[in-house]
Amino acid sequence: MSVPVMAAGNHVSVLRFVSTRDPARAASFDDALEQGLAPDGGLYVPFEWPEFSPGDLAGEAFDSEELTSAQGLARLAGAMLRPFAAGSTLAEHLPKIAEEAFTFDAPLVPLGSDGLLSVLELTHGPTAAFKDFGARFLAACLTRLRERGGAALAASVPGTPGRSVPRSRPLTILVATSGDTGGAVAAAFHRRAGIEVAVLFPKGLVSPLQERQLTCWGDNVRSFAVRGTFDDCQHLVKEAFLDRELAATRSLSSANSINLGRLLPQTIYYAAASLAIRRALGMPASFVVPSGNLGNALACLWARRLGLPIAEIVLAHNVNRAVPDFLRTGTWSPRPSVATLASAMDVGNPSNLERLRSLYPDLDALRGAVSADSVDDEQIRARIRAGFDRYGQFWCPHTAAAAEAYERLPGARRNRRPWVIVATAHAAKFLGVVEPLLGRAPPVPHALAELYARPTSSTEIAPTLAALRTALAA
Ligand SMILES: *Cc1c(COP(=O)(O)O)cnc(C)c1O
Repeated sequence: MSVPVMAAGNHVSVLRFVSTRDPARAASFDDALEQGLAPDGGLYVPFEWPEFSPGDLAGEAFDSEELTSAQGLARLAGAMLRPFAAGSTLAEHLPKIAEEAFTFDAPLVPLGSDGLLSVLELTHGPTAAFKDFGARFLAACLTRLRERGGAALAASVPGTPGRSVPRSRPLTILVATSGDTGGAVAAAFHRRAGIEVAVLFPKGLVSPLQERQLTCWGDNVRSFAVRGTFDDCQHLVKEAFLDRELAATRSLSSANSINLGRLLPQTIYYAAASLAIRRALGMPASFVVPSGNLGNALACLWARRLGLPIAEIVLAHNVNRAVPDFLRTGTWSPRPSVATLASAMDVGNPSNLERLRSLYPDLDALRGAVSADSVDDEQIRARIRAGFDRYGQFWCPHTAAAAEAYERLPGARRNRRPWVIVATAHAAKFLGVVEPLLGRAPPVPHALAELYARPTSSTEIAPTLAALRTALAA
């Protein structure tokens, strides 16, 4: 699929989104957000790309620090996401939505004294993981679309056969989670009117603290412990979307990273970080991204596609190495996921691979655009220790995987340009891993301490569509 480029000046035409499986299957911004998955089972991607120049975005009004502050992020989001929302009923609300979503900083913390290596902390949200950004943006958008009721149905792109989601019934957000997604989505949608959340997580395969934050909500949020793996949970969600029986009784949507409304706002912290580094050092930034389902990595690739000053992008996977193997061999062989210390990356068949391939259909182009490495549990443990010994940092296993992938880069690549290790969760969420390794506990952020104090409840279900149907109806 070729992707025409559109100028992002004052003239902004309505931008369409198309399915990765069928470029003729177009949807408006609103429909893409409400549907999650395209009706043909593909994922929505922008059909055209606005292009920004760093100068457009980091005008003189920003100083470096402000770029990565909550306020700076919200302002960047207002500017960068505008072309995507053009023509949408949400367009006029975008500044407010951005303010509501970006309420915490994404600071760049330098490691060492030469300023060439830093950590991008995406861990300051309500559930202390990067997924708070996307979940909060999506919640702010979907709540407004629901409030508008049937009136917004006219937002479909004229002449496209997109499936509009009826807004007269409550919307059920189905979310499969390998740990952090469910918590972030539950937190973002908790007590939002007209929206119900069903969180599906693999029983016994998330850390005890993660389980607490998946099951501590109540009200409009229900949690289901699925007897299976994360892939089973994800498969169940996909099945549910294609199920006529469920569709007859409720409106379903997804808040997984397949939802465009989660992916797009994640481009913002890459924009802020890369602009701040360009301003400080006059060079583009390179990122090492802890990766599982590839949502965070895609956002980084999209940010670069949008014109942000980003050089290399390295994906750090755990031993679920389908993506590194694909880049090496050219053969895509998804496989069952394996449980690791970096559990939020235990994905055997990353759904966003479709988006990666639609961005770079040519394998050599893909290999030129991104590289990937795989890190095992022992290496993660060693890197958590080294991060503390060398820098006094508390790293979660995912962040440690990225730090390890960075250390393995050839010195010539590492020393030539500024690098950013992306910290995807706070170490306190992985106390059981981190504390025994370091002999001390990372400080627990205030927001997490509050969550951990809440009562919990969940329902166990078999990994079948029938079981899910019954559980949702209860
Ligand atoms: C979800 C998650 C990841 C993986 O992100 P993807 O977008 O699925 O690739 C990495 N680290 C943490 C802490 C996560 O919660």
